[in-house]
Amino acid sequence: MNRQDWQVVWRVIFDFSKQNKKTMLSFFISNVLGAITPFITVVLMGKLLDAVQRQEETNELIWLALSAFGIQFVLQLIIYRTKEWYNQKLEYMKEMEAYRLNEKSLLMDYEYLEDIEIQELRLRGVSKTYLGVVGQTLNFLGEVITSGVSISVAIGILVPMFTKKSPPEYGWIGSIWFSVLLLAGIGALVWFNYRRSLFYAKEEMKAYDKISGESNQMKYYLDMLAGVESQKDLRNYGQQKIIETEMEQLCEKGKNGIALVGKNLRRKIWLGNATSNLSGLLIYLFTGLRAYVGLISVGQVVTYAASMIQFSKSVSTFAGSVGWLKETSFACRDYIDYMDLGKKKYEGTIPIEKRRDNRFLVEFEQVSFRYPGTQTDVIRNLNLKFVIGEKMAIVGKNGSGKTTFIKLLCRLYDVTEGCIKVNGIDIRKYNYAEYQRLFAVVFQDFRLFAFSVGENIAASKQVDRLRAMDALKRAGLGERMEHLRDGLDTFIGKEIHTDGVVFSGGEKQKMAIARAIYKDAPFLIMDEPTAALDPISECEVYAGFDQMVGKKTALYISHRLASCQFCEDILVFDQGTVVQRGSHEQLVKEDGIYRKLWTAQAQYYC
Ligand code: ADP
Repeated sequence: MNRQDWQVVWRVIFDFSKQNKKTMLSFFISNVLGAITPFITVVLMGKLLDAVQRQEETNELIWLALSAFGIQFVLQLIIYRTKEWYNQKLEYMKEMEAYRLNEKSLLMDYEYLEDIEIQELRLRGVSKTYLGVVGQTLNFLGEVITSGVSISVAIGILVPMFTKKSPPEYGWIGSIWFSVLLLAGIGALVWFNYRRSLFYAKEEMKAYDKISGESNQMKYYLDMLAGVESQKDLRNYGQQKIIETEMEQLCEKGKNGIALVGKNLRRKIWLGNATSNLSGLLIYLFTGLRAYVGLISVGQVVTYAASMIQFSKSVSTFAGSVGWLKETSFACRDYIDYMDLGKKKYEGTIPIEKRRDNRFLVEFEQVSFRYPGTQTDVIRNLNLKFVIGEKMAIVGKNGSGKTTFIKLLCRLYDVTEGCIKVNGIDIRKYNYAEYQRLFAVVFQDFRLFAFSVGENIAASKQVDRLRAMDALKRAGLGERMEHLRDGLDTFIGKEIHTDGVVFSGGEKQKMAIARAIYKDAPFLIMDEPTAALDPISECEVYAGFDQMVGKKTALYISHRLASCQFCEDILVFDQGTVVQRGSHEQLVKEDGIYRKLWTAQAQYYC
């Protein structure tokens, strides 16, 4: 472990301690006491044996035995209680950590979500550590503390034995050279064990690393196999054969890694046992000989021998856990790098002007944009102006940049060149959260969640029931709601609530529209909102559009031109820029892309 490794470990522990002071206190107490307790027994037992040998009074002996027992009992009780306290926290540690990491995703710049390297930072830390990054760090740090304290106490007990000068009549057994020779022998064994343990910890982590790629892939395939979403396609196309083959290959590849982990573990255990037996033998020989010549008492043989064995065991544990802590520090680094990801995006402080008339002027000035990590502009030199309160349709072929235009307007991404202004101010200067409140968007790939209908519509636990029902009616779900036994309290889907209702794609789309209406934002943006609707529902949406939108600005995106006729202002997108603008009547007259699209689609629909 170098300084940087300790720094990241410290940072993870420090962050955790800030909110978990009691847990950390119990963690330290249980680990330090866990290290000291065996020595207290050993020392007291040594004293008891000496007392027996000296044929002390029975009372004295009973008192010594009872105090050894009492101290041990109290210490064990404290260790038990503090461990319990600490373990309770550990139980949901991994889940809570995953929650914190995922929550961070919500707060970071949107573009990071599409950056594979950054997402790997999040996944790597979690997948590498079976207790979570914090849990695993605490686990090995606990072992380091316990074994470290144990080594120090053992040295404290043993130093007098080795440094005490013995009179010459004890011969070579009492000589300093004999002590030095023995210490050198034990030292060599301990050092060898220490180095090997570090090596095995590294190898083990490497082996886990090797398997982690396969484990992630396996998880993907297993989720696919069991997931409702993929079942229809899998069954219809019989794709499970591919999954089976892939799984077999992954198992085959993973086998080597797993075998390596097992082999290393067995070697490590064997080596640990062998070195501690050998050093145990040396220690008993040494202390036994000293007792034989009368240099130390029988009680001291017990105390010294047990302390030395504890010392040698602790060195081995210390080496193993430092090795593991070092490997865990890589996961800590990923974790910290992810949690510390700053915002690249400039976030201003200007509040959004509160306007009763909801009139906002939006301007795109020379806007160009390319997605991060790509080379081509998907929005090119876009100049555009519109006023809130207007209904505007955006049409164009697939891939012409319509959705990207919306993402820029909502500031999911920032423009690469140029500037977007609302009421004359660059949108980057506005307070980001307030700016978000301007928009209610029904994205093409919207998501509803396994909460109740009401909670989905209100996007909150507090549901204004009248307002929610009104939004649902306006989105065309009035009749459907009347037939639901639990009304707004009906749960969506069966993922979490077995009595939930599985709604059709069209119904869900209407709910997504209702959620946008409920938000009551000045801008209502709908990206292909009728894609999953049947023709009658689609007509209902157009017919009710005015009522639905009220005085808001509505942006209606579609590649089906027929669905946009009701908007007076139609923008035609092509290759990332607006190539035509006007009403349907004007645009069909012009010799342009709109007429081409219109004619092609009219033929198709006739
Ligand atoms: P439309 O909504 O008109 O169908 P989009 O705005 O979704 O078009 O896409 C415009 C272009 O941007 C397409 O060529 C698409 O492949 C590309 N694109 C969309 N999203 C991303 C992304 N996250 N990363 C890179 N390119 C993207």
